[in-house]
Amino acid sequence: MSFEKLAELIFPNIDKTPEYYLEKFKKRELKEGAKVTRYAPSPTGFQHIGGVFSSLVSERLAHQSEGVFYLRIEDTDQKREVSGAIDDTLKTMHTFGMDFDEGITGETTEKGEYGPYKQSERADIYRAFVKDLIKKGLAYPCFMTAEELNELREKQIAEKLTPGCYGEFAKYRDLNPAEAIKKIEAGDEYIIRLKSPGDENKRTVTKDLVKGEVSFPENIQDVVIIKGDGLPTYHFAHVIDDSLMGTTHVTRGEEWLASLPIHLQLFRVLGLKAPKYAHMPSVMKVDGGSKRKLSKRKDPESAVSYYREQGYPSVSVIEYLLNIINSAFEDWRAANPKTDYHEYKVELNKMSKSGALFDLVKLHDVSKDVISKMSAVEVYDLYSAWAKEYDEDMFKLISADEEFSKNLFNIDREIAKPRKDFGKWSEVKEKIFFFFDELFYEETVENVELPKNMDLAEAKRIIEAYAKAYDFNTDNIKWFDDLKEVAVELGYATDRKKFKANPEEFKGMVSDVAGAVRTALTHRTNTPDLYTIMQILGEKKVRERFNKFLSL
Ligand code: GLU
Repeated sequence: MSFEKLAELIFPNIDKTPEYYLEKFKKRELKEGAKVTRYAPSPTGFQHIGGVFSSLVSERLAHQSEGVFYLRIEDTDQKREVSGAIDDTLKTMHTFGMDFDEGITGETTEKGEYGPYKQSERADIYRAFVKDLIKKGLAYPCFMTAEELNELREKQIAEKLTPGCYGEFAKYRDLNPAEAIKKIEAGDEYIIRLKSPGDENKRTVTKDLVKGEVSFPENIQDVVIIKGDGLPTYHFAHVIDDSLMGTTHVTRGEEWLASLPIHLQLFRVLGLKAPKYAHMPSVMKVDGGSKRKLSKRKDPESAVSYYREQGYPSVSVIEYLLNIINSAFEDWRAANPKTDYHEYKVELNKMSKSGALFDLVKLHDVSKDVISKMSAVEVYDLYSAWAKEYDEDMFKLISADEEFSKNLFNIDREIAKPRKDFGKWSEVKEKIFFFFDELFYEETVENVELPKNMDLAEAKRIIEAYAKAYDFNTDNIKWFDDLKEVAVELGYATDRKKFKANPEEFKGMVSDVAGAVRTALTHRTNTPDLYTIMQILGEKKVRERFNKFLSL
């Protein structure tokens, strides 16, 4: 009876019961095996790539099983909140192909039957559950001050005991409710703790869908469930929210694994069914020969904004993350080069248990592959969207003549073995600059790359001869024949075998002659197909460049 009084005193305005909410939020009607997962970030404003990694797993699990993927905002730590963070989260998730079926849809909006989806708006729900626990003597107000808790902690450490508020050290655990009522009426400050039923000699054993079987000592700590500000701790909010929102699979960072005994105990005390858990390995990188967690402070690539700024198409990042999620994705991709990644089935039991190794070199390779399969129009659209934001000069250049730009992006593309020139948009400029006079003529003679074993004088000699033979209106066969003629005239071999047999008889191969032409037109030795470049540049520009080259 007096527990009841205590509960009434603490929560006088809470008239709903846990049964009310359990009745209100009925199980969703979904097909057998459909998973309900969520992304549950705190709105701190920083989008970590690890968050995209773990939410991609959640999103895939839900959608590949025709389930539900929802967004919940965990804003019970209001000190850390940043305005605009929710919109930013939504935008980021959308960019990486993740849209929510339910939950928060904007800074102040939401959809779905299981809300509110923002924890700060669920205070009364949590209180109804805590009130009930207090009534049943399963939770209690604790009046220990911060100093008292510190002293206790120091004493426990000195005596080599497990630190914390538990058992005999939990000063108010067994306080008579009448005493507690007196203290509250006297204005003493308090928080609410769970009266842990744990036994330190027993173990909590459970199966994690990524880590396999995990075993911990039972939780004996009287953990805080409601803080001084009246809001729940993560532990309590997680248990209530994931129960009422019908989450079937909780995918979250492995930093929460150690708290699992607390969570499972809370579910038991509350009489609620626990979801399945999948603890995601942390995103790691190799640094100086050893692995470490990707750091927000040290590693620019930990921020999602990094990929956008560098110009990695979001689908490249997604494909790369799928590679880390399941290493089998790589083989699947090789066997199904054109298939949409949504067709790949993510499997939790195939995830690496130890850590998700992040590697920008690998990302770059994956991205080259992804971009090489895009159409010229797609490349043009994505590149110009990127340039508009990050390289205005390039944006102006490529938009001035859209047709021309699409043609240049089309070189060696949409063929069986497309060229893998670009891994990210920020490196496109260096690969296409020579198509634009504005950039090409900015170069000085130091920028000019000459073919191997050829000096500028020889390159000029070739261009002088070739300029006379050059005919714009030819197909690539005739074009090459013309080039060969010039080569022979200048003492170059056209037949590799003959050249190999008597190299001293020749100045080089016809490929060196082509190399000189390439250099004169692009200042680079490695470019896409030369004939096509010349066709795109057009006769006037080609001749102009030959002349300029001769005057270098
Ligand atoms: N808000 C928690 C975090 O950001 C969510 C953990 C979870 O997914 O349960 O770490």
